[in-house]
Amino acid sequence: MAQLAQFPNDWQTALVLVAHPDDPEYGMSAAVNRWTSEGKRVVYGLATSGEAGIQGMTPQECGPLREDEQRASAARVGVNEVEFWGFPDSELFNTPQLRAKITEAINRIAPDVVLSLFGGPEWAPGFPNQRDHMEFSAAVRDAYAALPEPGPHWLFESGPLATHAVAVSRADIDAAVKALAEHRVYLEVLDPDTPVGEQAFDQVQRTTPVRDDFGGRRAVVFELISD
Ligand SMILES: [Zn+2]
Repeated sequence: MAQLAQFPNDWQTALVLVAHPDDPEYGMSAAVNRWTSEGKRVVYGLATSGEAGIQGMTPQECGPLREDEQRASAARVGVNEVEFWGFPDSELFNTPQLRAKITEAINRIAPDVVLSLFGGPEWAPGFPNQRDHMEFSAAVRDAYAALPEPGPHWLFESGPLATHAVAVSRADIDAAVKALAEHRVYLEVLDPDTPVGEQAFDQVQRTTPVRDDFGGRRAVVFELISD
């Protein structure tokens, strides 16, 4: 079986760019915990505050709540720099304004590696991607491609396609479960019948499987978009 490449390790700063609160926790945060525990700096940039994401709650209530949950979640995996850009949740488009903000964040933070969201139409047959994710992902790719040299070394996306993998430990996985569970109100409303801790555990298990294509280790995978 063809093996995945080892995710690069010769870097110091990563910028995780996502559309909504909880996007880092649905795929990447076990890897993030490994990196921060090795002393690397990881910064989260979120286009929206996820203010349209909780049914029955107004955007005015929901936005600040989800920002608080995201900050608590990030702290569980050693991330203390979290920024919210205030673009409208569920109305995110690949506009010049969004691309300009992405470029500004990359220039200011000067990451070695940029991590973004999967932008394809389907995660798997019958599992369509969200429009916000597709638009945001396209904006990151476009902004990244327009950066002057020397920019960051790598752009990766987190999704169903894999070129590279980061082996994660039990401690990394435990931290990722705690991180996702910090989105407590969000998860309680999303699935009222399943305890939040159980939802978080199940999801993190799915995103940190034992990989036969990575030496039988538990790993988080990424797709290399540009280097
Ligand atoms: Zn999202």
